Amino acid sequence: MARIGILTCSNATQELGCASVSCLGDLRKRKGAFELYPAAEPLELIGIINCPGCPTLAGPEKFVKRVRALTEFRIDVIHFSFCIKALCPFKEEYKKALETHFPDIKIVMGTHREHMPEDEFRRRVAALFGQEKKGMTDLILGKD
Ligand code: SF4
Repeated sequence: MARIGILTCSNATQELGCASVSCLGDLRKRKGAFELYPAAEPLELIGIINCPGCPTLAGPEKFVKRVRALTEFRIDVIHFSFCIKALCPFKEEYKKALETHFPDIKIVMGTHREHMPEDEFRRRVAALFGQEKKGMTDLILGKD
């Protein structure tokens, strides 16, 4: 049995409201990166957590601490979500930090099937970020 944790991008989950439906759906269907497991091996999702946001110049320690929410529970594999794979400028640094701190845990880059090329995904995410969204500043200024 593979005990699996999934790490997602805060921009996708917190900012853009992704509930990880595609990641979890393809885990159940054993598609995308989950195709790599032997067909007879049961997959058990132990936990899912989003990254702690920008690591700053202070390095990845903040990230490693965050991922303890998974690593403390006998995880065999941590999958970096497709959104991390496509969007995160720190993904290789994060991967290296986890491999150093948790040599017994395998790190896999990716989760669900890639429904579009990464550059198109990035372009469409940029369009979402660029949408006009009103907030408290607009309310204070009477522009809501
Ligand atoms: S550090 Fe990477 S994974 Fe975390 S919010 Fe930023 S882009 Fe997403």
